[in-house]
Amino acid sequence: MSVDTSTKNQATTDLDRLLHPDEARAIVLEHAKPLPIELVPLGDGGWRILAEDVISNEDHPPFPASTMDGYAVVAEDGSPWREVIGNQTAGFVLDVEVTHGTAVKITTGAPVPRGATAVVRVENTEPSEDHVIIQQDHVDDGENIRPIGYDLRSGDRILPAGTVLGPAEIGLLAGLGMTPIPVRRRPRVSVLSTGDELVEPGEPVGPGQIRDSNRFSLVTALQSAGAEVVWSGKGPDERDALERVMRERIAESDIVITSGGVSMGELDLIKLILGDLATVYFRRVFMKPGKPLNFATVGDTLLFGLPGNPVSALVSFELFVRPALAVLAGRDPNVTPKVTVTLTHETPPTDRIEYQRAIVSVDQDGRLIARTTGGQASSRLASYLGANALLVIPPRNEPYRAGELVEALLLDAPAGHI
Ligand code: AMP
Ligand code: MG
Repeated sequence: MSVDTSTKNQATTDLDRLLHPDEARAIVLEHAKPLPIELVPLGDGGWRILAEDVISNEDHPPFPASTMDGYAVVAEDGSPWREVIGNQTAGFVLDVEVTHGTAVKITTGAPVPRGATAVVRVENTEPSEDHVIIQQDHVDDGENIRPIGYDLRSGDRILPAGTVLGPAEIGLLAGLGMTPIPVRRRPRVSVLSTGDELVEPGEPVGPGQIRDSNRFSLVTALQSAGAEVVWSGKGPDERDALERVMRERIAESDIVITSGGVSMGELDLIKLILGDLATVYFRRVFMKPGKPLNFATVGDTLLFGLPGNPVSALVSFELFVRPALAVLAGRDPNVTPKVTVTLTHETPPTDRIEYQRAIVSVDQDGRLIARTTGGQASSRLASYLGANALLVIPPRNEPYRAGELVEALLLDAPAGHI
């Protein structure tokens, strides 16, 4: 199926077509482009996305290093008694040569002195003041020595572009002295909730009013995705004022996320405003929760009009916004890997592809099993608590049975307590 995206404000019939979630996602990803590269000091690089391949410029270790506390010796020298001719600790190079009949006391990580071909660990020796007795029948050549380049060789591609810089990655880069490092600029995102009924947490709730929760859950989801939230707030209820705020947000953001105002009601202003100021690609996705989902662009800025129901907003975020953020940040969009899991209970299907919040764990036989988080109403945020996966449940005539295999998307940033 192809969607004509060349003209602005296309015919309603085309835009209101129900898209398969995979097709909707492909359209989103087509419009997501990696952001510019910036250099940051290594110390600020944690959890950023590497923008260029990193090639090692050094061998590691740069000298043959001892992996044990012990005595550096000539391996083939079979005699137990050795004269201790020096003490090699880490951080300098002792100017001695180990020969038959001699040894140098050495610590872990210290450079192995000239002439030595093995290190006998201290547990296998009996040290005295000026000599040491080797209590090991046989010493292998190279024993307890990390040769030059054992961990890394100069010229090795150690990290490809797109790598998420976690503790090990940052440690490797630090070991190679690489600073500053090239990363993609963090996506700048604005979050705007709409709805006359919304009040701020902490303010009194009048008749018929509810507190705005989406803005806060979406900001938290954005934080876990490495985005920079440049603005978040409630949009004005009046159309012109809301459109003005939207224009300002679009100008300053790589992504603008709205919640609410995209269904069929008369007051669903976001849908109307997007139609006016943006190029809209789709408005409805064949999924539950979250059928009304608007995706549009203005220049390079991506606009996501998420539905207002709290679970719909978050599920739509996981399926569409998080992958788009990944691409902007220079990362692979497949941030929610698909696995096959065994259902532990019967599950009735719905009329759309349902993304059920679930807890996936490993049973005694090593199988991945899934149990639901309970009632799956799109208003019931409690159905997200402890969830680490979204089960993909397509429509069909009979219920899914306990023991049946289904697909699950493992969430990129699960939270909570299960
Ligand atoms: P809408 O998509 O605007 O029709 O909203 C659908 C449902 O979600 C309604 O029950 C709204 O009251 C609710 N809703 C909309 N926005 C929010 C929000 N920011 N926080 C909590 N609930 C919301
Ligand atoms: Mg609304």
